Amino acid sequence: MNKLIIILFVFIPSLAFTQLNNQLLQYNQSINKDSLEKTVLKLQAYGTRFAFQPNRKTIAEDLKQQLQSYGFSTKIDSFYVENFEYPYHSGIINNSWQYNVVGERIGQYARDTFFVVGAHYDAISFSPANQPCFDTTPGADDNASGVSAIMEIARLYHIHNITPTKTLRLELYAAEEVGLMGSNEAIKRSANKLTEHITGMLCLDMIANQDEFPKQPSSVALTEYDNSQDLTDFSMNTAALYSELMPYATTDYYKSSDSYSYYIWGRKAIFIHEDQFHPFYHSPQDLSSTLNYDYFAKVTQLAFSITYLATATNYYFPISLPQTPNPSHTQFSLLENPAKDKIRFTYNSPKPENPIVQLINRMGQVEKTSNLSAYKISSQEYQIPSQDLRAGVYFIRIGKQTEKIVVIK
Ligand SMILES: [Zn+2]
Repeated sequence: MNKLIIILFVFIPSLAFTQLNNQLLQYNQSINKDSLEKTVLKLQAYGTRFAFQPNRKTIAEDLKQQLQSYGFSTKIDSFYVENFEYPYHSGIINNSWQYNVVGERIGQYARDTFFVVGAHYDAISFSPANQPCFDTTPGADDNASGVSAIMEIARLYHIHNITPTKTLRLELYAAEEVGLMGSNEAIKRSANKLTEHITGMLCLDMIANQDEFPKQPSSVALTEYDNSQDLTDFSMNTAALYSELMPYATTDYYKSSDSYSYYIWGRKAIFIHEDQFHPFYHSPQDLSSTLNYDYFAKVTQLAFSITYLATATNYYFPISLPQTPNPSHTQFSLLENPAKDKIRFTYNSPKPENPIVQLINRMGQVEKTSNLSAYKISSQEYQIPSQDLRAGVYFIRIGKQTEKIVVIK
């Protein structure tokens, strides 16, 4: 409880939005630990996801299939890695096709305006003596966790049938551990299509390690970039309002994951990761059984909240939306005040109705009353004759709304 009060106190003054989005609060309840675990176990079961192992295409196809099952339009973007010496200075030269997996849910009003959420699916490991063990890379925290969070975001868009206003693009990258290759390829491809506008990239990498949670309040790190102040503010505010975790912004590790590729291509980015790094990451002990799924679900909730608000509302990078023909609530306003021989006003309601209109004097006596339709003079305007009234202050009451009007002679 303390935590909540402190965080709200710190962040509310800079908020562009203070009203909680009820829809989002409801969606966040659907984040499911079993669903997260299922994807982690599936990825771990490959035994290895090292970038240059022959199973890489099968893994990419499986991930594509899963995104497709959530109603995303999907594709595999392949790219060729040529003459790449890895491990460095080993004399081993790698030549291989690599496979990024991309899923999209097209924006209803701005299809060429994108919000990207990305995570790498490859993994790497070394023995305690720092020897490569590339055929055993379970990579549960690093980074089956990020991939699973993205799958969970996709699942929520699917089950709640969320149509974004701008396009949501989910990217699962190949070959991150050997030099951020997949993400570099993805942003290069986007930049070559001159029509695409990337408004921001959310990177998820290592998000499921926490010793104490939920026994103690836990932190989550938001690594920020110096070109991305508005995305950082938006993400921090979202964390303060929609997450039980304590967010902090940092520049540590800003070069360590795929968000850096977007940053060096001049795009806005934010990188969410656990506060305490997994003790066995990059080792054969980075296993699902070591993850904290309560914490993992909370970070996923934060990632979903940022994604939802950025793509389905206008809280971040607003786009122009068509005017809704019906007002969402009743609007009653006077066109002239004071009034002389007629009182002119407009009245708009989201549902068809013909409420009682009362003109009340300052003694509380009803001077005139009729249904609204009796005063209608056009689709826009209503008039109540007032030549017969004494000069003074009156109140017009329509349904639950009252306006004060001065009648002059
Ligand atoms: Zn990683």
